[in-house]
Formats: sequence, C-alpha cells, structure tokens
Amino acid sequence: MSELLSPRHRAGVPRSGKLYDVAVVGAGPVGLLMALLLARRGLDVAVLEQRTARGSHSRAIGIHPPALAVLDDAGVGPALLAAGVRIRRGTARSRGREVASLSFDAVPGRHPYVLAVPQVITEQLLEEQLEALRPGTLRRGVHVHGADDDGATVTLSCHVGEGPGSGTAAGLRLEADLDLEPSAGPDVSTVRARLVVAADGAYSVLRRQRGVPVRTRTYPDAYLMGDFADTTSDGSTAVLYLEAGGIVESFPLPGGTRRWVARMPGVVSHPTAAGLASLIGRRTGIRPEPDSCSMLSAFPVSSRMPRRLISGRLALIGDAAHQISPIGGQGMNLGWLDAAALAPIVAAALRGEPTAAALRQFEADRRRAAATATWQAHLNMALGRPLPPAVLAARNHVFGALTNIPGAHDAVANRFTMH
Ligand SMILES: Cc1cc2nc3c(=O)[nH]c(=O)nc-3n(C[C@H](O)[C@H](O)[C@H](O)COP(=O)(O)OP(=O)(O)OC[C@H]3O[C@@H](n4cnc5c(N)ncnc54)[C@H](O)[C@@H]3O)c2cc1C
Repeated sequence: MSELLSPRHRAGVPRSGKLYDVAVVGAGPVGLLMALLLARRGLDVAVLEQRTARGSHSRAIGIHPPALAVLDDAGVGPALLAAGVRIRRGTARSRGREVASLSFDAVPGRHPYVLAVPQVITEQLLEEQLEALRPGTLRRGVHVHGADDDGATVTLSCHVGEGPGSGTAAGLRLEADLDLEPSAGPDVSTVRARLVVAADGAYSVLRRQRGVPVRTRTYPDAYLMGDFADTTSDGSTAVLYLEAGGIVESFPLPGGTRRWVARMPGVVSHPTAAGLASLIGRRTGIRPEPDSCSMLSAFPVSSRMPRRLISGRLALIGDAAHQISPIGGQGMNLGWLDAAALAPIVAAALRGEPTAAALRQFEADRRRAAATATWQAHLNMALGRPLPPAVLAARNHVFGALTNIPGAHDAVANRFTMH
C-alpha cells in the first residue's frame, strides 16, 4: 500500500487526451460527496455513473451528526437541513406502553439530532451542489467495467450507451466533452486519471476486477418497508414497536410522511401496500392508509467486508468498502465519513506529499468504524426478532431500565448517533 500514492508515481504523463486528477466511479451519495470534497480542494474530478437518471428508490433516510458536520463543510448542510425533519427523540413501545425513551439533546456537536431526508432528495441536493461548483463533473450513462493501473495512471474502460443501468444515446454523446478515448470499439472508451475512487456500491465491479477478497455474510432477517401519509400523533419522534411478532420501526419524513419498517419471517416476494398496512395494524394498532403509500420495498439482509480498501491507485469507499445491514441505519453515513477521511489524503498525494502512513491509518480507521457499525446493526436486528411474550416483557424491562440510567442513556444515544 505504501507505494500506491507515493510521490515517485505522481508524475504520470498522459499518453494522449485528458488526464484527470481523480475519477470517482459511482454517483450514489458517497461518490457525489467525495467529488464535492475533492472539487472544493481545486482538483480536476470526473464522476462516472452508469445510470442516466437519478434512482427513484429512497433507501437511506437518517443523517447522523458527524456526517452533517461533513456535509456542512461541503456546502450542502443548509439545503439538507431545510429539506429534512430533525429527530430529537426516540421511543420504544410494546403492547401499547412506552418501555424506553432516548433523547439526542445531549449528543455532542453542532447538530444534536438525526436528520431524516429521503435518499433521493439527498442525492439531488449533492448533485446540484456539485453542478453549481464544477459544472459537468458528473457524467451519466458511463458504465465502468475495468481499471488498468500502470503505477502512474489508471485507465478505466467504460461502456458508454450500454451496460447495466446505463443509457444509450445520452452516453454516446458524452465522449467528446469527457475526453473519453474510443479504444476497443464504438461503444467502449477509456478515461484516464491519476487516482480512482470506487464508490460503485455493494457489488463493486472495480473491487471484483481488482481481485479484492470479500467476506460476505447473510442474516436470517428480512424486512418490509413502506412510506405512508403520517396518521400518527408522533410528530418528529422515531418509534420502535417491540412486539412479539417482530419489530416495527416508524420514522418521520418530510412532507407529512412516515416510513414504516417491519421485521418479516422471510423475504416477501410480492409485497403490497395493503399487506404492509394491515401487518403494521396488527402489531401496533396503527393502520396507515394503503392508498397513501409512496414507496414499498422488501429486502433481505447481508453484509460484505472487503479485505482491503486500497488496491494500487484505487481506493474503495462507501458500500463498495463495507456493506452493512440497513437496520443499523448507518451505511450511507459511514461512506460519507470515508470520503471525509480520504479527501485530504488524496489531495496530499496529488501534491506529491508522502501518504503511506496516512493511507494505512485510513484503512485501519474505516475498517474499525465499519466493524462497530456492523456490531450495532447486529444488536438492532436482535432487538427486533420475534420473542415469546414472557421473554419479550422481561427483555423490554431490562432495556427500559438501562435507558433510565443517565450514563447508559447517553452512551446509547451517542452510539445511535455515531459518536
Ligand atoms: C432499505 C435501506 C435502508 C437504508 N437506510 C439507511 C439509513 O437510514 N442510513 C444510512 O446511513 N444508510 C442506510 N442505508 C444504506 C445506504 O442506502 C447505502 O449505504 C448507500 O446508498 C451507499 O452509498 P454508495 O454511494 O456507497 O453506494 P450506492 O448508493 O449503491 O451508489 C453506487 C452508485 O454507483 C453506480 N455504479 C455501480 N457500478 C458502476 C459501474 N460499474 N460504473 C458506473 N457506475 C456504477 C450505481 O449506479 C450507483 O449509482 C439503507 C439501505 C437500504 C437498502
């Protein structure tokens, strides 16, 4: 790893065409923030994204205080704050009674709350900020399928106009203004950069192509999730319903909407809004209006941990570097903190400063943070599994007593907000 970004390799001279400082692969929330942080440091960045348009499926909703501080630094904090709901309190209920409550008022930092914003809006705001700062940085319809690292530069092979999720005509038009060099055919081109950041998600093509071993784990848990008009009186409070049939989580969203997530015995193959609403009703006594459902998703849980985050002149961040259970609610935040840690190292490497020690530290710190988030996700999933009523009552009693001890309350609140 020590030689990857070392000064002796930095004088890579383009054979022809443009040489970017950094190519970021993937314009999910993590790739977009990475590009913003690098562009704000004056670096010449290209973001290559296979989709021709933003995805409409809202996955992450919770933005935690340390990530909010980074988003402030990237200039996108105020827009996100204006778009989101500030969750300052969480409560756990069971069989109609409150068993525990958690306040985030005392968590350290500028933002003592979790901000709830649908991921589609978060990505839109990041993309708008990047476009305002450095127009044309994001290139859609470019599917990257290979990286050739010659020790001085990385040449990315891309399909424009073909490939999973990519577009057709829009991609082909990119070639001229992105300095894609046609190479192996009419729809295969290359982009060259001094360094590459792979933010291409949990199934990272670049990670696989570089032969990075990955430890994959699947869990017995599955969930059904939907956004409905908010018919509760819970306002901005997050609520966990700890019930014998399995947990139901309920989070406020902007626009008078609430997200409901229910633990299921297995993946539901044909989910319906009416089915989820009726299950929520049976477990919690609250029945959302099925016709108001704006998003529905059924998902199993798995995690992926690659053995390395740095491979040659390529760094993995975001879900490409660690996929954790969504029930931890931390995956996107973890990826943003990767970007914040990596950006100054990339800038230093491109200035020719030695960065071997900083890279080693980056890898160790980010893997540790991912392990901690994975551990918390395990606990969250365990908390939500079905239990016989008597065991559930005893477990809930212990949980409630724990959060009544001030020191323990603050420790749990800090952990939930990634401090
Ligand atoms: C149901 C659910 C709920 C969640 N809730 C939360 C939450 O509340 N809080 C939280 O922090 N996290 C949450 N997460 C996790 C969060 O959604 C992910 O951690 C986050 O999306 C990861 O961002 P990313 O940018 O690393 O990857 P992605 O969002 O997966 O983006 C990767 C991008 O790379 C592009 N791409 C992939 N391959 C290529 C290629 N070869 N060439 C070009 N482009 C490519 C893809 O099209 C995509 O746009 C949740 C996840 C799920 C499934």
